Amino acid sequence: MTTTRKPATIVAAARTDRDPAFASVAPPIWPSDTYRWDDADTKPSYDYSRTVSPNRDLLAEALAELEGAAGGVITGSGQSACLLALLLLPAGAHVVAPHDCYGGTYRLIKGLEDQGKLRATFVDMLDDQAYASALEPGADLVWIETPSNPLLRVTDIARRAAAAKQAGALVAADNTLLTPLRQKPLALGCDLVMHSTTKALNGHSDLFGGALLAEDAALVEKMQWWSNAAGLNGSAFDSSQILRGLRTLPLRLDQQEKSGVRIAGWLAEQPQVHNVNFPGLATHPGAELAARQQSGPGFMISVRVKGDAARFLGALELITLASSLGGFATLICKPATMTHRGMPPEAQAEAGIHPDLLRISVGLEDSDDLVADLAKGLAAL
Ligand SMILES: *Cc1c(COP(=O)(O)O)cnc(C)c1O
Repeated sequence: MTTTRKPATIVAAARTDRDPAFASVAPPIWPSDTYRWDDADTKPSYDYSRTVSPNRDLLAEALAELEGAAGGVITGSGQSACLLALLLLPAGAHVVAPHDCYGGTYRLIKGLEDQGKLRATFVDMLDDQAYASALEPGADLVWIETPSNPLLRVTDIARRAAAAKQAGALVAADNTLLTPLRQKPLALGCDLVMHSTTKALNGHSDLFGGALLAEDAALVEKMQWWSNAAGLNGSAFDSSQILRGLRTLPLRLDQQEKSGVRIAGWLAEQPQVHNVNFPGLATHPGAELAARQQSGPGFMISVRVKGDAARFLGALELITLASSLGGFATLICKPATMTHRGMPPEAQAEAGIHPDLLRISVGLEDSDDLVADLAKGLAAL
């Protein structure tokens, strides 16, 4: 298979040839936990489903082609993909991570640090001096998450990855917010790319999943070994559903992004709005870098309104107050008490997460109706 196929082709064409029994166009689901051996000395390519699954392989193959990876591992959640990356490290490893990383990633790294399993430095990835100091003692893993969640701050992947490699670190990027259709971390120097497939890749808000992909085949093998050893692999059914969702990702992303551009621009003009974070706004500090590094601004917006955020939220009728992102429905959340509650208030303050900040994941509703709903919220202030 060539690597020059366009994303829409990769996802539409993903193994419509995989049913040897009936030649179905949609690949079957193979839920079996185990597989028959021809003889006791010849291990078949599929033997036990915790270890290998055709449905996970189909999804991993499609995601690897999208990311330009040698291969990857399909895990049961985004967090298990993050854990898998950490399992690659030796005991006492030094992990450098963004001080405003995803709340669950922060919780996991901090929890392992509190147990003495690793040493963590949470750093402002946009601060050259702080980043250089964090790498000073050497590092085993540098975690990149851009745009950040919920502030949509943009990290220069190529620059940060190059310095990390110089310090001897493995570099991983959480590419959940933009998907491989808008950002290719491996091409920018990362070794690993991680996804919560729970989000835009599945896009239907109906399951949990994760993926960890690598450019180097030996690293993929190591990941497969650990994922099997720790039992982190995702189910056949979920993998099949995620591949199903993935087929419409290019269409969904185009639509969500188009609405996102309109909504962010509209919010920025409203007098009741304090500020809007969106990489596609010219006023956004990371706009120029985003225009170079990303092939689109994405569908995530964060906003601070003037006055009581609770009144604003209470007046919304169409947009749902819920965490998660990337699905068909537009969701709004208050990171301080919802997605980022695993991060203590001091850490939130240091990361610039204001208690009143609101985060919007733009979905597939008509943008006229979304703007009208947000206008209702602002009118209630
Ligand atoms: C949701 C999310 C995760 C965690 O994924 P789960 O599937 O919920 O375990 C990690 N990183 C980012 C950026 C996310 O949005």
